[in-house]
Amino acid sequence: MSYLKDADPELFDILYREIDRESSTLELIASENFVSYPVLEMAGGVMTNKYAEGYPGRRYYGGCEHVDEAEDLARDRAKKLFNADYANVQPHSGSQANMAALFTFVKPGDTIMGLDLAHGGHLTHGSPVNFSGKLFNIVSYKVDRESGRVNFNDVLALAKAHKPKLIICGGSAYPRFIEFEEFKNVADEVGAFLMADIAHPAGLVATGLHPSPMPYCDVVTTTTHKTLRGPRGGMILMGQDNQNPFGIIAPKSGRVKNMSELIDSMVMPGIQGGPLMHIIAAKAVAFGEALKPEFKKYSKQIVLNAKRLSDELLKKDYTLVSGGTDTHVILIDLTHKGITGKAAEKALENAGITVNKNMIPFDERSPFVTSGIRIGTPAITTRGMKEDEMILICNMIDQIIKNIDNDNLINSVMNSVKELCEAFPLYSDLRN
Ligand SMILES: *Cc1c(COP(=O)(O)O)cnc(C)c1O
Repeated sequence: MSYLKDADPELFDILYREIDRESSTLELIASENFVSYPVLEMAGGVMTNKYAEGYPGRRYYGGCEHVDEAEDLARDRAKKLFNADYANVQPHSGSQANMAALFTFVKPGDTIMGLDLAHGGHLTHGSPVNFSGKLFNIVSYKVDRESGRVNFNDVLALAKAHKPKLIICGGSAYPRFIEFEEFKNVADEVGAFLMADIAHPAGLVATGLHPSPMPYCDVVTTTTHKTLRGPRGGMILMGQDNQNPFGIIAPKSGRVKNMSELIDSMVMPGIQGGPLMHIIAAKAVAFGEALKPEFKKYSKQIVLNAKRLSDELLKKDYTLVSGGTDTHVILIDLTHKGITGKAAEKALENAGITVNKNMIPFDERSPFVTSGIRIGTPAITTRGMKEDEMILICNMIDQIIKNIDNDNLINSVMNSVKELCEAFPLYSDLRN
């Protein structure tokens, strides 16, 4: 039964074309995943109706008893998953989480350091087109040309020269573990706050397959929809909640406020209004899934798949930034294959393989063309694919990249993609 089909056939068709696309193509975008039916059900539920400005037990609206229970569960499960003392599950997205965290710890005009966008960072880590680059004085660090990894001698030298108030570690196209401990050493050396953005590896952090930032970082931000496999959204965590070092006191009691209180009020009313309660409840459902042993098995398979795919690509003489991966992310440098990231993305898309073009460190091409593609294994691993399928997928990618103008071959790969997708069905219950 579909209400939408009767009421608005045009949008019903659009929705079902998207279900078809997701189920019949190979999703290799590293930041995407497929949520479970229970997460979908909660995200599509009636909590979208509820205004709940404030936090559980202290709302500006009546009728919040049930959304309070959902948000409490989301926070408790998040704390358990990440071994954190504090969680705020209200940020609408990873970018909102970063905005709230930055505004809590630093002021406009302050100097902050982040990984250069072209070297794997994120827009919100200081890109000139983003609020972060417009409001703060940005010093970007880069990866080492040879190793493709962050060079801590360079980071320390930059930090000593520019005395940042805060350093952001983490990124969107960094195939290796984020080096929290090394960043902490630099931050301590210059008296900077350390913020970790684990938007990408959050699911791996939650399952112990990636080191945890909690012991080292003042604040940790993440998305909930990448490796963590929840609904689209953001979250802010702290390993430990301390009194704020800025001397901000609660007006009535004269008590020094905790950092958690400052972050909570920066999220709402600082930068957001009413929280998306349907999404917060869906986050709680996803966190419940992530606490189960099956999710750890799933996360292990994400990494096994990425390692196998990167090994196969290396065998076929592809250049991988940093020489491989520790995570779910692989960044291919196509320079010596004589093809741009843009052309590779388009040809792969024609065959039903979805990837994104991506700058490589020291890229000489523009962000609209690029010399690389980024691929990731979370979504195909959700479908149940394992190492054997990675070998098939590597062969498909290689055939396309070697024969970018051969329409017959692209068609034949497209048929193989369809077959593979049919063998690992997705959302079949939604199509009846
Ligand atoms: C994806 C990502 C974000 C932002 O997430 P949105 O939900 O798209 O705003 C922030 N930081 C990093 C490192 C990311 O990869």
